[in-house]
Order: sequence, then structure tokens, then C-alpha cells
Amino acid sequence: MKSKPFDLLSDDDLATCVHCGLCLDACPTFRTTGLETESPRGRIYLMTQWKRGTLPFEEEQVRHIDLCLGCRTCEAVCPSGVPYGRIIEAGRAEVESLRRPSAKRTLSRFALRQLLAHPRRVHAFGAVTRAAQALKLTSFVRSGRQLPRLRPQFRIPPGNIAPAAGERKHRVAFLVGCVMPVLYPQSHQAAVKLLQLAGCEVWFPPGERCCGALFAHNGDLESAEHLRDANTRTYLAGQFDALVVDSAGCGAHLKDFYPELKGRVKDITEWLAEIGLPAPKKDVKLRVTYQDACHLAHAQRIRKQPRDLIKSLPGIELVEMRHAEICCGAAGLYSTLEPAMSNRILQEKLDCVSDTRADVIVSANPGCQMQLESGLRTRGSSMKVEHVTELLARAY
Ligand code: SF4
Ligand code: SF4
Repeated sequence: MKSKPFDLLSDDDLATCVHCGLCLDACPTFRTTGLETESPRGRIYLMTQWKRGTLPFEEEQVRHIDLCLGCRTCEAVCPSGVPYGRIIEAGRAEVESLRRPSAKRTLSRFALRQLLAHPRRVHAFGAVTRAAQALKLTSFVRSGRQLPRLRPQFRIPPGNIAPAAGERKHRVAFLVGCVMPVLYPQSHQAAVKLLQLAGCEVWFPPGERCCGALFAHNGDLESAEHLRDANTRTYLAGQFDALVVDSAGCGAHLKDFYPELKGRVKDITEWLAEIGLPAPKKDVKLRVTYQDACHLAHAQRIRKQPRDLIKSLPGIELVEMRHAEICCGAAGLYSTLEPAMSNRILQEKLDCVSDTRADVIVSANPGCQMQLESGLRTRGSSMKVEHVTELLARAY
């Protein structure tokens, strides 16, 4: 437990920034506003001064921390190795303990704690939302319009095991997670099918809960630690070669925040590239473009594997978009908490996407899928959004 304000922020981490500014052009909020205060360097400076006590903590300044997407693009381009993800998580936890809570943030923290941390409640929420969508009731609220059309929820197979197709070569645990089985069950189904085809027996750890990523990103480290401790006990009770994750945000969080799983957490694209898939059975005659999910490209440094897997499909045409590595503005709860900035960033992304004239935009994170789908719908575009697992599964 911390003893003084800003104790969670490490002096060593903050001191790695040498103020060179090489990250500025990569930062979506700096690119949008051109303001130093909305840049990685500006935010690190602000947190450093708060910690040293050379600037008083003022609520108006917290806005600069709130507007950070936590996309970690700055971390990937920084030549000095600034651990920006760790800095912003600690900074946010500090800020949350010092600021006057707004109604919106209090509500989002309450919703996270009361909903996401409880799988049964998330499933009940999914069932109610599906019914509301059928009655066209969700179109009356903004967050309802952002949701994808929900399909029947992902069901864990009997006995918590999906057997390998043919000879069993690996045994993997699969992260089902909190919202993914409700929002994008088809991505999970495709992921499990690919794993089975690649010779994996897939184990679904019983009692697994939300990994805690959204809590950590929103400054609630206490809840994130609580979930991590419960999940770690669950995972370590089983045997597996890898814990496979098909949500980039969750994968990055597990790699950074779960020390006891070190080296065993794998993004689905990373794992499939490592073990290999059988030869595709069908052509996939589509023109596609790939959006790098920030927590895959920047936090996990995985950019090549998903592209290689896509290019391995017969008949596919992969067109690179401009700035594929720049955030789409989804960033967890950001599109709800900071809708104006999120939308400005999204519009630039949609322009880049449209220029590719692709049939399908592919990504590896539910937040990006939802943000892109919602933006394309608003523009009246017919372009589809798919998880990389869905695209790959089309070939089998
Ligand atoms: S975060 Fe890295 S790239 Fe950005 S100013 Fe600091 S040292 Fe330079
Ligand atoms: S995490 Fe993203 S939005 Fe935040 S400072 Fe870094 S590049 Fe900018």
C-alpha cells in the first residue's frame, strides 16, 4: 500500500523520459490537438511535477491524463524505453484517489465492479440487451447504438474441454473473459475451432473471471489485483502449455500484470504462428485491410504474425491502410467517457479505412471491432469488420 500521494508512480520510470519528443507524432491525442499537454512527454512532465511537489495537484490538469487513450503507441516508438503503460496506470490510480469523482466516472467504476467482475451478471445483461435489440429499444441511447447486433452467447463445451481435431499435440487454456462471449461469440468460436484444427486440446478454466484489464486502465488497481489473485489460483490449478487469448487488451494485461503466468500467455495469432495451422481448405476471395489493435501492436509488439496468417489464406488480398498502427479511439471505456475526442480520432481512422476499398477490416480486439463497426454504420458503409480468427476460419 502507498504511504504518500503519488507513491505508486516510480521515480525511475518517470526519469527514463529524456524529453526528446520523438513520440509526439505517434500520439493520437497530440496529432489531433497539436498540444504539448496532450502528448506523452507533456503527461509525463505533469505527473513528474506532481510527484515532486513542484506543481500543485489541480483538478483541471487531470483532464490531460483523462484524455490519454492508454494506447501505448508512445511506448513502442520511444528510444529511451519509457514504460508508459505502467506510468499511466499508476498515474490514473493516484488521480482517482485524489480527484473529486464525477458522476460519469463514479457510475463507470460502479458498473465495472458490479457487472464485469461477475460473469453471470454479464450474461444476464447480454440476454436483456439481445431482447432490447429485437424490440429496437437500444437505438434510443448512444451506448446502445454502439453495440453490435448480439448473437447467442458463447457456450463453454461440456466438461470444460474442446478436444483436438486428430492427434493432440498441445493442451492450452483459453481465456473466455467477460464481454467477449456476449459481444463477439463468433470470434471465440472461430478461435477455438482454429486451435482444435492446429492439434490443441482446449481447456476452459472453471470459475475464471474478468482479467481486470479495464479496471487497471481506469485507475482501479485494487479491483484488478483482486481479480488477478482469484484468476491466478484458477489457472495454476490446471496443466497447460499456453494460455491463449483472442482479445489484445486482455492479453497485454495478463502479460504485464500476472507474474505467475510469465511466458505462457499467448495472443491467438502469436500462438497459431508458432505451432502452425493445417493447409487451408478453401479460397477466401476477399480484399481485406488490417487494423493493428494498440494492445497487440504496441503493448505486445505483435504486428507480423497476424499479417502472415492473413496472407497465408489462398485468394486473399491484404491492403495496408495508412496509419494502421494508430489507435481507432476505442480504448476500453474511452469512447464512453471521452466521446468527443474518441470520435475525432475515429473519423481519421475511417478515412484511412475507406481509402483501402477493402471488403473487410480485420482486427484482434473486441473494443476495436465495436468502435469500427459503429463508425462504419454511422457513415452508411457496407464494409464488414471481423476478428482475425473469423477471417482465418473462413478457409476451413
Ligand atoms: S516518452 Fe520517450 S520518445 Fe517521448 S519524449 Fe520521453 S523519451 Fe522521448
Ligand atoms: S498512450 Fe497513446 S494517447 Fe496516451 S500519451 Fe501514449 S500515445 Fe498518447
